[in-house]
Amino acid sequence: MHLLVIEDERALCETIVRSLRRLAYSVDCCYDGQSAAEMLAVERFDLVVLDLNLPGEDGMTVLRTLRERDRDTRVLILSARCEVADKVAGLDAGANDYLTKPFNILELKARVRALLRRAAAQWWMLNTPS
Ligand code: CA
Repeated sequence: MHLLVIEDERALCETIVRSLRRLAYSVDCCYDGQSAAEMLAVERFDLVVLDLNLPGEDGMTVLRTLRERDRDTRVLILSARCEVADKVAGLDAGANDYLTKPFNILELKARVRALLRRAAAQWWMLNTPS
């Protein structure tokens, strides 16, 4: 599984990347919306952990651009924006899950595993003759 973590707080980003690598995923990261958009345009990821308040392109813009051509990549928004309206907007724009900061790393890891399980189950259903 290939994951991308988009988070501009570098210490937090490193912590997330390290924890996800321990789950044996291959994890890339970037710190701003512009690099995120560029990486998503050329590389295929199974799951993206996406912060919303980013320098350069906002996380919501990154998400909308991704969804214009890719419905499969799982997107988990990880944001300090905690209003119901923010969560609704994120999920409606195509995010698969939304976790608010502050968060517990164990919960983030559990949600990542759940999203990847769902993706695997969906793949199996689509590719198995009935
Ligand atoms: Ca941020």
